[in-house]
Amino acid sequence: MTRRERPVSRVLVAGGAGFVGARLCARLLLNGSDVICVDNLQTGHISNISTLECMPGFSFIKHDITVPLRVNGRIDEIYNLACPASPPRYQINPVHTLKTSVLGALNLLGLARAKGARILQASTSEIYGDPQSSPQTEGYHGNVNPVGPRSCYDEGKRAAETLFRDYGIQHGVTTKIARIFNTYGPGMAPDDGRVVSNFIIQAISGNPISIYGDGSQTRSFCYVDDLLDALMLLMATPHEVSYPVNLGNDGEFTIAELAKIVLAKTGSTANIIYSPIPVDDPQQRRPDLTLARRVLNWEPKVTLNDGLDQTIPWFRAQLKAGTRLPEVVA
Ligand code: NAD
Ligand code: UDP
Repeated sequence: MTRRERPVSRVLVAGGAGFVGARLCARLLLNGSDVICVDNLQTGHISNISTLECMPGFSFIKHDITVPLRVNGRIDEIYNLACPASPPRYQINPVHTLKTSVLGALNLLGLARAKGARILQASTSEIYGDPQSSPQTEGYHGNVNPVGPRSCYDEGKRAAETLFRDYGIQHGVTTKIARIFNTYGPGMAPDDGRVVSNFIIQAISGNPISIYGDGSQTRSFCYVDDLLDALMLLMATPHEVSYPVNLGNDGEFTIAELAKIVLAKTGSTANIIYSPIPVDDPQQRRPDLTLARRVLNWEPKVTLNDGLDQTIPWFRAQLKAGTRLPEVVA
């Protein structure tokens, strides 16, 4: 049977021109789904989806999800990945970031309800704020400043989780909540501003590595393809799996360790410069993955070492092509 003769699922990916979204669109197309990518191109780029645009079954709608969206025809699944994820990016227009999480979630939940589609929310480890217990389990309610520079993102994502829960209960929509921990990989924008992209770009261009604070804060880094496996498995779970599930990699590294690894892997002799730690920057972060392992029968497979080996060549190619660089090295 050819692809067109098969009953094809029709999947909407909001934020589909971003780092994770574009790779998800590609995976869904390869799996035989039709994909509608919706993005306002705020932090995403057309270049991320240019190779997909000639594939049968792919369509792109430039749209801001803070505005209700009409889509003709059937939709089976909606992934809501629309939201800038990098702290410097989401802090540029904090009111819009909050609107994206709250109004955007409402609009997409309404669409899911109208179409009878299941819907997955890309939530975040940021809902735990600066956690006072580690590793973070889904039962931990977090330590979030409601009035700080990160609040637009953290509180927006928290409110979106509430909306997902309540739409499930009140309207019977099948909802999924993925609490995603720091994810990296090929496809990240060089000017994204997050730590993995900054350090690699700085190292390969011979600019100083910018550590904020003393580098003792920790993060757990997940390779993008491990995350995509988990997101697709979570989407396929029974209706009852509507509770939040942590997704990430539970290896924990200090930011100073990450800098050392990146310098060694790139063969760079760049210096390290230290600057003050941003307000409310979480001191430690590591997912408890017990629930994901049990419910999804999934395990992150790619170590930081192997994931960086996949990612560094991507940034070398971007640098060669003269793609946008972060201000810290420009
Ligand atoms: P990204 O910034 O590369 O992608 C986000 C995409 O959403 C971009 O294409 C952007 O243009 C689009 N977008 C933003 N606001 C929009 C709006 N109002 N309407 C339509 N499109 C909009 O970020 P990413 O790393 O790919 O993250 C994807 C999702 O996963 C985000 O929701 C993020 O909060 C979540 N997440 C990511 C990580 C991570 O480490 N990558 C961690 C936790 C959560
Ligand atoms: N960080 C850093 N240098 C950078 C970018 C980030 O030291 O150039 C630190 C940041 O202060 C934080 C950690 O790296 O402690 C992860 O930052 P990122 O922005 O990637 O994601 P976060 O988990 O903070 O949302």
